[in-house]
Amino acid sequence: MIVFATASQKGGVGKTTVCINLGHALARRGWNTLLVDTDPQGGIGLSLSKNTRKKRGFYDFMAKGGEARRLIIPTRLPEFSILPSGSADEFMRGTDFENAPEKLRDFLRQIDLLGYDCVILDTAAGMTSMTETVVRGADWIVVPQQAEPLAVRSIPLLMETLSRFRKEGSPVRIAGILLTMVLNTHEASLKVVRELRQMLPPQLLFQQDIPRDNLFLEASAMGLPIALMRKNPPATALIFDQLAAELEERTGLGDRKEQDHSH
Ligand code: ADP
Ligand code: MG
Repeated sequence: MIVFATASQKGGVGKTTVCINLGHALARRGWNTLLVDTDPQGGIGLSLSKNTRKKRGFYDFMAKGGEARRLIIPTRLPEFSILPSGSADEFMRGTDFENAPEKLRDFLRQIDLLGYDCVILDTAAGMTSMTETVVRGADWIVVPQQAEPLAVRSIPLLMETLSRFRKEGSPVRIAGILLTMVLNTHEASLKVVRELRQMLPPQLLFQQDIPRDNLFLEASAMGLPIALMRKNPPATALIFDQLAAELEERTGLGDRKEQDHSH
């Protein structure tokens, strides 16, 4: 099982949108994928519940432990399931945060035993204590970054932070920086993208970037991947398929295909 997480200092850069659509794309490509919401303010999975009450989820596990599988919500795509954030109140109130890394390891071990190929952990913005724990526990992080002139500023700090985590025993590596909300019709936005591509080493940036498209806004209002929207231009769905293919290549996930299907 490979554990992915998102990380970015800023909110509203498209992390959750990337997680939902990338998770769904990986599942369409045959990987058994679980999307976990670790943002206490996050709403992943809520639109799939029958009642409006917030479902139990990640934070309930972090507070009390138990069986992670009971928190999983299946979707219509058998390879894609979701685990909502649940209620963070009890965790924030009572639990000592020092146990969080251990709890997270137990959580991921349980998920692994359920036979998932990929877990995607969506995070809150910034390095909050929980986001730091999640990033340390991940194999790879995807870094959504809005295509704007000052975007590169935060990258050296992020690289430093990750290399410190690795020295302290974390497996975490950067899968890539993903340029989001690119305005393909605006020369200024495209210029920023070109400049970033010149400035940063190619292995640090995904080839595929994510255009600004109102379809993402509409889809996220419904908590859906765009592939499940009625109005869904094939070209838009292909964006995340391409990204998933790149991720397979960059992380060695693709190499596992034959191996995994042989037993
Ligand atoms: P984060 O999780 O980083 O806070 P979200 O994924 O929730 O960001 O995105 C913030 C807002 O921007 C949401 O309303 C979402 O629908 C919208 N959005 C995200 N990605 C795009 C995009 N590529 N094009 C247009 N709107 C987007
Ligand atoms: Mg989010």
